Amino acid sequence: MAEKFVATDLATLQDNYDLIVIGSGGAGLTAAIQAHELGLKPVILEKMSKIGGNTTRASSGMNAAETDVQLNHHIVDSFEEFYADTFKGGGQQNNQELLKYFTEHSALAIDWLADHQIVLDELTITGGMSTMRTHRPSSMAPIGGFLVSELLKQVATENIPLYTDVKVNELMLNDAHQISGVKVTTANGDRELTAKAVVLATGGFGANQALLTKYRADLKGYNTTNQPGATGDGIELAQAIGAKLVDMDQVQVHPTVQQDTDHAYLIGEAVRGEGAILVNQSGARFVNELDTRKNVTAAIDELGGTGAWLIFDRGIRDRVKAVEFYDSIGLVKTADTVADLATTTKLDAATLTSTVANWNQAVADQNDAEFGRSTGMDRDIQHGPFYSIHIAPAVHYTMGGVAINHLTQVLTAQDQVINGLFAAGEVVGGLHGNNRIGGNSIAETVIFGRQAGQQVFKYLQQ
Ligand code: ADP
Repeated sequence: MAEKFVATDLATLQDNYDLIVIGSGGAGLTAAIQAHELGLKPVILEKMSKIGGNTTRASSGMNAAETDVQLNHHIVDSFEEFYADTFKGGGQQNNQELLKYFTEHSALAIDWLADHQIVLDELTITGGMSTMRTHRPSSMAPIGGFLVSELLKQVATENIPLYTDVKVNELMLNDAHQISGVKVTTANGDRELTAKAVVLATGGFGANQALLTKYRADLKGYNTTNQPGATGDGIELAQAIGAKLVDMDQVQVHPTVQQDTDHAYLIGEAVRGEGAILVNQSGARFVNELDTRKNVTAAIDELGGTGAWLIFDRGIRDRVKAVEFYDSIGLVKTADTVADLATTTKLDAATLTSTVANWNQAVADQNDAEFGRSTGMDRDIQHGPFYSIHIAPAVHYTMGGVAINHLTQVLTAQDQVINGLFAAGEVVGGLHGNNRIGGNSIAETVIFGRQAGQQVFKYLQQ
C-alpha cells in the first residue's frame, strides 16, 4: 500500500533539478517516471503529508479502447467509439484536440502500465460508456490506491526523489519568459529551486469552496469527495504567469456519495456497472442508473433532497471489492431478503420487492422497458444477502483548469506556449467538456502524465 512508501528526507532537497513535478497523484507520478526513464533528473513535490492526491480515491478503473485486455474478454472496441461516447457524455463541449490524443493513446497507456508490472486485466463499464472499456486489476481492488501504490514502487526502484510537506507557492520565469524554477515552503523554511521545466500535476479545486463558488455560486454548501489538498493551487500558480483558464464553471457533482457520517464517501460507479439499481424513498426505480453522472445527479436532485438508495446482492458485491471497505465502516445495510432490506432501510417493502422482481425480469429479457438501461445488466439481484447504501450527490471533479495543447504545453490567453510549463491531470481543463465519464480521469493522468514526461524531455533537448 501507499503508506509503506517513505518520502525522501527533506535534508537532501537540492537547489536544481532537470524537472520539477508538482503533485504526487497519478499524473505527477507518471510524468516523473516517464521523464526519469528518458534520462532526466526529476523531483516530485507534494504539499500534503499524504501521497497520492485524489487519485487514491478513484474507484472504478481506467478507460481505454482497442486493448489486448478487451480482446481477451471478446470486446472489439475502437478509438472512434471511445471518442464518440466521451464527446456525447461531455455535451460535445470537449476539447477535440485533447480528446483525440486521449482516445488514441489509451491502449498504449495500458501497455505502459503493464510494462511496469501494473496489470489491469479485468473490465467493467461506467455510466455513459457503450461497452466494457474500464480496465481494473484482477483483484477488483479500487483503481486509485492500487495505481498509486504500484507507481510508488516504480518511483522507489528508480530512486526518484519525492518530498512531502513541500508546497509550491510560485512559478518563476526568466527574462525570456521561460520557466526557471519554483518557490516553495518547507518545514525548514522557504526555498527557491531551479529547473528549466515544471509539470503542474496539482489536481483540481473540488475542496476549495471559495474558488468553487466564485465560478458556481449554486454549489455553495455541497459536500465534496475530494481530499483537503484539492484546492486548485496549480490553476492559480499558472494564472499568475499568464496561463489561460477554460471551463472553470464545469464542475461534476457525483451522483452516488454516502454522506451520512462526517465524511463523504464516493460509492464507485462499478457498483452500478456490475448490476446495482437505484431506488427512491418508496423503493421504486426512477432513472437509468448508468446514464451520465450529470443526468443521474439531476434525477436524484429531483427527488427533493431525500437522496436515493443503491440496492444490490451478494453476486454484485463479490464483483466490487470496495464494498468490503464501505461495509467495514458502516455504510452498508444488510438483510437476508429484499423485504427485510426494505424494512431495515425504511423503504416500502412491497414496492421494493416488486421493483427488484421487475428488474430481474428486465435483466433476463435484456430489455429495460421502464428506463432504457442497456448496460450493467450482466447479473440480476436475487442472491442474498441483499444490501443497500444511502447516497446523494456531492462535488466530485472539476472539469475546468489550465489550457494546454495535446503536447501538454500550457497556453496563454493568446494561445501562445509558456516555455517550460507543462500540465497534466485534473489541473487541466477542456478534455471532459461539461461532464466527465467515470474511468476517464485515471486514464487522463496516465496518458497525459506520460506525454508531459516525454515533451519535457524533448523541450530540454533544444
Ligand atoms: P491528478 O489526478 O491530476 O494526478 P491528484 O489530485 O491525484 O491529481 O494529485 C494532485 C496532488 O497535487 C495532490 O496530492 C495535491 O495535494 C498536490 N498539490 C496541490 N497543490 C500543490 C502545491 N501547491 N504544491 C505541492 N503539491 C500540491
